[in-house]
Amino acid sequence: FSMECPGMDCRIKVVLRKRPLNSKELAKNAFDVATTRTATYPNSRVFIHEPKTRVDLSKHLETHAFIFDHAFDETSTNEQVYLATGKSLVKSIFEGGKGTFFAYGQTGSGKTHTIFGSNAEPGIYSYICNDLFRHIEDSCHTATFHLRVSFFEIYGPKIIDLLTPLSANQQPSIQLCEDKHGNLNLMHLHHETISSLPDLLALVQRGRSLRTTRPTSNNNESSRSHAIFQIQLVSSDAKSNGGVLSLVDLAGSERASTKKHTGKLAASSNTQKKIQSEGAEINKSLLSLKECIRALYKRSLGQQGDSVSDSTHVPFRGSKLTLVLRDSFLCINSQTVMVATISPGSDSVEHTLNTMRYADRVK
Ligand code: ADP
Ligand code: MG
Repeated sequence: FSMECPGMDCRIKVVLRKRPLNSKELAKNAFDVATTRTATYPNSRVFIHEPKTRVDLSKHLETHAFIFDHAFDETSTNEQVYLATGKSLVKSIFEGGKGTFFAYGQTGSGKTHTIFGSNAEPGIYSYICNDLFRHIEDSCHTATFHLRVSFFEIYGPKIIDLLTPLSANQQPSIQLCEDKHGNLNLMHLHHETISSLPDLLALVQRGRSLRTTRPTSNNNESSRSHAIFQIQLVSSDAKSNGGVLSLVDLAGSERASTKKHTGKLAASSNTQKKIQSEGAEINKSLLSLKECIRALYKRSLGQQGDSVSDSTHVPFRGSKLTLVLRDSFLCINSQTVMVATISPGSDSVEHTLNTMRYADRVK
């Protein structure tokens, strides 16, 4: 298993992950539109074969090619994805770095499966938690560490705490504030101090269950919010500077194309309006996320020699999502991973191409 990382700069890594076709897709006779492996390019190219109808109504496939830092096919495991992506983030936070891991893609394509796991296998988070405590034990001669953890959702303009068992309406509103040193803080957000692996794993489960069983929740809620799990490494020794690791399970990318599902819904105009404004909000945040990562990537290229780099404007203020993550992005020693997940069924090809184009534009 080799990790390919073209170019000198691996601080921003964009990888693709394709899940297997599921039984629903197979029942509909959907076929697999994504090829991620060829003899010449074993693990970085992806080809999407889009079914098209010609003017004369004959059918053909149009092939679109993309290149990523790595492409994982349907046989990949969360552990393999972790080894190629998240592992280096864990290492860097012990050097004061800030690492951010995003899962981007259509609802049902495997974002939550990748980050938080499912019945089938543990998610990236569990490998991260394990490695964190392994590092902490290894470094116990030089410093003692504990973790400061938060888990929340960004839902429209609202920030909802996943570690406080109150419904969104009962929670004190969490405000984003800038302190006098220019750091951004989330006021009223609950932070838990953690010093053991079982406590950390239990906390994640607690947050996850709140995410899906809240009284206001319905099945689709997770597709409409960004979930952020954040671990801050705190050292009792002031000399060793601890970093921050963030795992971000983004809102379903199909939500960004609002026209589509408002059209076919026979919903009341109020519901339609709500869906539309939610879609617009998600669209805005996913667009500004792309612009921010792209600007940071350009900046990192600039740092290779000339000094134009710092003049690249990074539009953090474009959304709450990017503003919340601003300090992680701006850290000199920052690393960003984006896993773009796709549903390979032919019935999802439009969304898949949108995801591919988005991920392609990030870097
Ligand atoms: P999302 O969070 O993007 O909406 P999920 O992670 O919930 O999607 O995945 C939808 C379903 O597909 C889940 O039942 C999940 O277990 C399954 N699934 C997703 N990715 C994979 C994969 N790589 N291998 C096997 N099953 C997967
Ligand atoms: Mg999900």
